[in-house]
Parts: sequence; structure tokens; C-alpha cells
Amino acid sequence: MLDEPMSLPKLLADIPRLPLAVLPTPLDPLLTPLPGDHGRVFVKRDDCTGLAMGGNKTRKLEFTLGHARHLAATVLLTASGVQSNHVRQTAAAAARAGMAFHAVVAPALAHFPRAHLESGNMLLDMLLGAQLHLVEEESLAEAALARLADDLRAQGERPYIIPLGASDGIGSLGYVDCAFELLRQTADSGLDLSHVFVATGSGGTHGGLLAGLRLAGSRALVIGISVSEPSAAKVDKVRASISGVAEMLGVALDVADAEIVVHDAYAGEGYAHPTQAANDWVRRVARSDGLLLDQVYTGKAFAGMADLLGRNQLGSVRDVVFLHTGGTPALFADPRLLRTPELDAPEIARLYGAVTED
Ligand SMILES: *Cc1c(COP(=O)(O)O)cnc(C)c1O
Repeated sequence: MLDEPMSLPKLLADIPRLPLAVLPTPLDPLLTPLPGDHGRVFVKRDDCTGLAMGGNKTRKLEFTLGHARHLAATVLLTASGVQSNHVRQTAAAAARAGMAFHAVVAPALAHFPRAHLESGNMLLDMLLGAQLHLVEEESLAEAALARLADDLRAQGERPYIIPLGASDGIGSLGYVDCAFELLRQTADSGLDLSHVFVATGSGGTHGGLLAGLRLAGSRALVIGISVSEPSAAKVDKVRASISGVAEMLGVALDVADAEIVVHDAYAGEGYAHPTQAANDWVRRVARSDGLLLDQVYTGKAFAGMADLLGRNQLGSVRDVVFLHTGGTPALFADPRLLRTPELDAPEIARLYGAVTED
């Protein structure tokens, strides 16, 4: 572990970066009351990064696109699920960089309503000029991506393949940067930051943030809430992100296993499967903060944060930050996911007819 805080400009000096995000993002006090013994709660608004409706991938893509341009790539490729915020933000980044963009999208979940394929992020992907290649199952995505890259190479293109969620060492640098930005803001506001809560998906946000906090000399804990897999799988992803960051920056970064914390009790049946607790918090926060969470990532993370704080088992909790990672367009993609007691399934079917019957 480093004893002296590192200077960020020095660390990032030689790393190519394409400006895409509106930074710094705001750090806003949360109005919605949360249970448990803790100090103040703030929301770090990375839903406001500004690129085509914002979200956490934008910070990562500044470094990913910087690297792709450095390698003189002509076309960007990635694979993801339907309703991917990553694909939407990458489509916008590619447009700004003047590069073509292909995404292999899986799985086309048959049990989701048509809005899932036509609205939300999918609508925006198409609007932004992404070329989408739908495959039946997630297991087919990698081969499809490789085939696509071969075809593009045969046409004289130079493809650059972006890993899931841009969570390699390069993309994760976006959240090293965010950690330094956050610490400047907490210092300016006189916060005594002890815990940061974040949704953990492909792990680069969590890993980059934790790496950045330690590089900046902060001991604040990062508490990850899994949105899909069991904790062990997420911890591996976060550790890989941290190793990637250390390699990119050429620094030793010994983050102990015990410091990589991911809770998996709030993911429900898995990725994009709704949970009652998440949907309840999405509604509650909308109605008391005027703040939009989403049902796939931030709603689950928020539900996890509220539950963990309420149990008072996190040790001494002083001031807390919830990292809002975006995801707003997914709200439009599945009217069933946010059914409320006042607006239940039959009522939605009556209002939307064919949309939910598909
Ligand atoms: C991708 C995403 C996450 C997860 O970030 P990872 O770096 O993949 O762990 C969280 N929230 C939203 C809204 C996302 O789109």
C-alpha cells in the first residue's frame, strides 16, 4: 500500500484520453431518509456525465477511445446484453470520434415485452448509428464478435474490441479519475467519507474507484452490490480491474482481498430481473428526491445500501456516498418492471395493449 498520495495528473500524464464527459459531475445531498446510524448521505451524479443521457461508461470510454485512436483503429466492436447502457454510450462515443461501431447483442430474451427490443437503450443505439447484431444466446456472442472482427479486417478495417463494460485496466482508469474528483468534492464540502456504495456489474467501476481511493490516500470503503452473479465472481472481476489499473499506471497497488466487498443478496434472479425492493426504492427516491434510479443497476444497489445501513453491521459509518451510475433509458424499456400497487399488470396491459402482450 502506498503511504503517500499520488498526484493524478502525473499518473495519467502519458495515457491517451478523448474528452467525452461533462466533469466534474455534481455531488448532491440525498433527501430520502435512510435507516441506520450514519452521517450524511450524498449522491455522486454520474448519471449526469452528459454523453447521450449519461452514465458510468462515459468516463471509461474517454480512455478506451483514447487507446483506440492511439492504435489508429477505424471501427469499434463490443458485445453486451439487450438494453445495454454500455452499448448506448459507446455508440455515442464512436459517433463523436468519427468511428463506425458494431455491437453483438444477446440474449434477445423472449419473455420480455417488445419495448425491451425497441425502446430505451435499443432505440437510442439505433438513433446513434450503432450496427446491432442480435444473437440468440450469450454463449454465442464471443464467436460472433470474433467473426465480425475477421470480416472487418478482410475489408481493410482496423477493429478495436472493447471488453464487457469497458472494464479492463484502460477503461477502469475512468473511475480512478472519479475517485480523485470525489475526494476533492468531499473535502470541499467537509464530508467525513467512510463508505461509497456502487452497483457492481463487470467490475471496472468498483475496481477503478477502489484503486483510485487508495492511490489518493483515502481509506474509505467501497461496498459493491452485485446486480447479477454471486459475490465470488464479482470479486474476481473487481480484482482484475485493479490489477489492470496497476499495470496501466505502472504502480504497485496491493489491495487486500478483504477490501474487495461485494454483496450478492440484492440481485434477485439475476441480471435485469426485477426485485420488489429495488423497484420500491426507485419509486421512493423518484418521489422524494426527484431523482431517477433504474431497475437493473442503481435500484438494486440503492436497495442494498438501504438494507445494509439499516442493519448497522458495517462498523462505524460516517458520511456516505451513493455512486449513481446512470441507466435511466432502461426505465422506458419494460413497463412491467415498475408496476406499482396503483398500476398493476392488468392495468398496464389495458393502457399499453399490445406492448405488454408480446
Ligand atoms: C454498466 C453499469 C454498471 C456497472 O458498472 P461496471 O463497471 O460494469 O461494474 C452500473 N450501473 C449502470 C447504470 C451501468 O450501465
